[in-house]
Amino acid sequence: MKGFFPINKFKEVTTPFYYYDTSILQKTIDTIKGIVAKHPNYHVHYAIKANANSKVLAYISKAGLGADCVSGGEIQAALNAGFPVDKIVFAGVGKSDEEIKLGLEHGIFCFNVESEEELEVINQLAKEKDVIAHIAFRINPNVRAHTHANITTGLSENKFGINMEDMERIIARALAMGNIALEGLHFHIGSQILIMDDFAALCNRINELQDKLNITLKHINVGGGLGIDYDNPNEHLIPDFESYFETFHSHLKLREGQTLHFELGRSIVGQCGSLISKVLYVKQGSSKKFAILDAGMTDLIRPALYQAHHSIENLTSDEAEEEYDVVGPICESSDVFDKAVTLNKVKRGDYFALRSAGAYGEIMASGYNCRPLPKGYLDTEF
Ligand SMILES: *Cc1c(COP(=O)(O)O)cnc(C)c1O
Repeated sequence: MKGFFPINKFKEVTTPFYYYDTSILQKTIDTIKGIVAKHPNYHVHYAIKANANSKVLAYISKAGLGADCVSGGEIQAALNAGFPVDKIVFAGVGKSDEEIKLGLEHGIFCFNVESEEELEVINQLAKEKDVIAHIAFRINPNVRAHTHANITTGLSENKFGINMEDMERIIARALAMGNIALEGLHFHIGSQILIMDDFAALCNRINELQDKLNITLKHINVGGGLGIDYDNPNEHLIPDFESYFETFHSHLKLREGQTLHFELGRSIVGQCGSLISKVLYVKQGSSKKFAILDAGMTDLIRPALYQAHHSIENLTSDEAEEEYDVVGPICESSDVFDKAVTLNKVKRGDYFALRSAGAYGEIMASGYNCRPLPKGYLDTEF
């Protein structure tokens, strides 16, 4: 992979920074579009929260995908990037009045409503504006996703969605409201899911729930969550969209005329991005060597927050391999990217790539330790 990075040109920009390879992004999007083209009732919304870099967003919106937002700021970012308003969905357990009003003013495709209280507020705000709010109910399907505990969302112990037992009652309430158009059911069981049986279990649950209803809703939204290969990115640059969509195609029983919506984030942008960082120091510890980078958990928090693993490469050395703990400069013991990593011999000034960092990387950066936020660049800018 070394050859794919324009290392000589990296010297022109300040490290650390995010590097997005648009040929990988394009191939990813083309793969999705190729499959979805066979299913005219399938609609893919890109989950903005995975990466809201304006250049990345513009790229994805141009490709014709819709947007999945979880805040007013994301709705604004989606609109700025040119996503059509009738392809914007809005989820979140705690939508503020201002955020709901923003969605109503623009007439977004759908609010994914997560509680009865929220339903009342949306109806009230829609009434004040004399508009109709198009909504789906986010149902908590109590389906376990086999992934890190911090990123499961579809268990009854999680804060997300409406309990299944309450579904029919709350649907009846919505149907009686003057400024609500109930159009769908929404689900999202978690993130970085690689076991297709988890999605099959979601389909089975949706089939059960639909059987209980005596109305047919316009759409079903199954959320996102398809995982990527963090360990061997080069072998699986394109996530397994074939199996993913096939799982829904073969397990989910859609009603006549129903559309099926997906909200994919990580699987669209994860593999196209790398965090590029320079080695500040190589420090000999009592029993091991530390490669100390100018990037830290403020730039990429996934290892510290989710015990996530990113494949790390030394882009500027071909010397014999040695083992290093790769760490950042932040005053936190959890500021470790990975331990005992085998790397070509490291020296001060070497450039490292932390791979598969396109999702939940740049967007989760913080200014802790008064550090500047990392910038993001497309390959086409070099
Ligand atoms: C985060 C999120 C997604 C995207 O999840 P990925 O794992 O990145 O695909 C989709 N829908 C909702 C409601 C989300 O919160």
